[in-house]
Amino acid sequence: MSDTILGIDLGTTNSIVGVVDSGFPILLADDQGERIIPSVVYYPADQQDKRLVGQSALRMRCLEPERVVMSVKRLLGQRVGEISGVGTSMIQRSGDGAVNLLVGDQTVSPEQVSACILSYLKENAERRLERQVKRAVITVPAYFNDAQRNATRRAGALAGLEVVRILSEPTAAALAYGMDKLGERSKVVVYDFGGGTFDVSALEMSKGVFQVMATAGDTALGGDDIDGALADELSVMARGSDLANAQPTIRARFLDAAKRAKEQLSNASKCLVSLPFYDNGDSFEAEITREKLEEIAIPFINRTKDYCREVMDCAGFSNEDLDAVILVGGSTRMPQVRALVSDIFDREADTSQNPDEAVALGAVIQAGVISGALREMLLLDVTPLSLGIETFGGLMNVIIPRNTTIPVKRGEMFTNAAPGQRSIKISVLQGEREMARDNWRLGEIEVPCESGSKGSARVGVEFSLDADGILNVIARDTLTGKDQLLEIRDVAVDVDDDRVEEMVQESVDHAFSDMNERIWTEAKMKSEELLPAVEQALGIAGNLIDQLEREEIEAKRNVVKNALNGGSAELLREANKELDLATENLASKMVEKMLND
Ligand code: AMP
Repeated sequence: MSDTILGIDLGTTNSIVGVVDSGFPILLADDQGERIIPSVVYYPADQQDKRLVGQSALRMRCLEPERVVMSVKRLLGQRVGEISGVGTSMIQRSGDGAVNLLVGDQTVSPEQVSACILSYLKENAERRLERQVKRAVITVPAYFNDAQRNATRRAGALAGLEVVRILSEPTAAALAYGMDKLGERSKVVVYDFGGGTFDVSALEMSKGVFQVMATAGDTALGGDDIDGALADELSVMARGSDLANAQPTIRARFLDAAKRAKEQLSNASKCLVSLPFYDNGDSFEAEITREKLEEIAIPFINRTKDYCREVMDCAGFSNEDLDAVILVGGSTRMPQVRALVSDIFDREADTSQNPDEAVALGAVIQAGVISGALREMLLLDVTPLSLGIETFGGLMNVIIPRNTTIPVKRGEMFTNAAPGQRSIKISVLQGEREMARDNWRLGEIEVPCESGSKGSARVGVEFSLDADGILNVIARDTLTGKDQLLEIRDVAVDVDDDRVEEMVQESVDHAFSDMNERIWTEAKMKSEELLPAVEQALGIAGNLIDQLEREEIEAKRNVVKNALNGGSAELLREANKELDLATENLASKMVEKMLND
């Protein structure tokens, strides 16, 4: 059958592939019988040799760590990536600012590494199914931005797969949980704590349709962090210092041991860590208790709390409203995480799903829906960050707010800031900050317009975001009816290394100063309009008002001028208001005079 569509969970730590077979979603194992494939690629020194993917690549980490690439999803679509877990020394910045990895003497992009993993999954599936497959649904975290979604698509294309749908992971998990377990209208939270990322989403299901109401998270928070902290602790016990300056092979041995101990401690209250000959003749052995692990893990786990509250607030959900809390990601196997989740949401989390496989299963179900192998269901997602354009004074004007359900189409009308302008530049921005410069610039369109007085041009800007999160911008000069189009698919522009959650955090951190700057900028623009207008009015109709009124206006005008130098937004706003009031009579005298002349 040529219309088979694979469902793929392309995870930071592990990846899984599956397909709907005879009406049932199934996950496919590789030659070693493993369904959960480590998202790891080993690049051999001799390029003629075969690259290894999965478990066999992971095994090479202790022998040749510099040739093993892990957690590459953290770098997908990033300009300068988050380094943790990928190997700092491998990261390179290419000429255009994109991230590349130097593996031995080969340079590879994060997309190429992801493509290797996808090819491996595709080949596995084809071997199992005994037919070729060309299409796939791939999951991404809900808050992946356009650049990250597009990079995922390109990785698919490099692997010979047409990506028919990019699906948000929480939506996939909710699909796997099963609509049959939920009522007509249900509210669900998906708490996803994996190896490299954390996210939490609030979803609402109504008449068989899932909608992500809100999502938040951290692309650099996961079980890897706990492994790192525990490995440092073990290293201090064994070597007297943490792993900051350790040789890569030693570092890898400690990380491996830490991860194994952490996983064992989900089912046992203590375990033995054993590192024979980790450094030539040196060996290490110690007993680690669950209590010790929990002490080390608590700062990381606690960080998930605020995101949970944020998402509940944003979605307008309260704990009593919830029909289910679904756990996803290997790290939710930790009893400490489960306890925290029940504490936050005041209810036991659902553990009926295998937390490692829920997202993949959802991807398979969605693939089945698209290919027609399963009954049709509609899925809706939300925008991870606000989208807007730059307006006068360098302000961010939001057109599609964060957490808006997609697909969505929104538009606004803009005008020229200066007289005689022959074109208007539309800068498309993504982010949560008040000033344009603090947001990410996704692209620019220059719209030619009729030259005229200030405010005479009329340019309509429409943003439409499709179900895959691809943004199309149309700018139209309403006088000429001419359109300029911009498709933001390949966001290879000045997006810097800030990650989505950093952006949200920054907007919270700077909320006060940002808002002040916006008020200041708006007030300053108002003053800059008001002062010459008052000057002009005094010139035209100054002789029609009495001396006292004139002095009053001049005094108020000086207050505005002083406030402009002072820097207080509140004072300037107040001064503008006073000047506006003081010149009301003058303005009507001027209009009268102009009408009579
Ligand atoms: P994922 O990204 O969802 O594949 O999750 C991988 C993460 O889950 C890694 O950090 C694993 O160490 C962690 N993990 C897997 N199984 C367990 C377990 N039994 N207890 C604690 N953590 C686990």
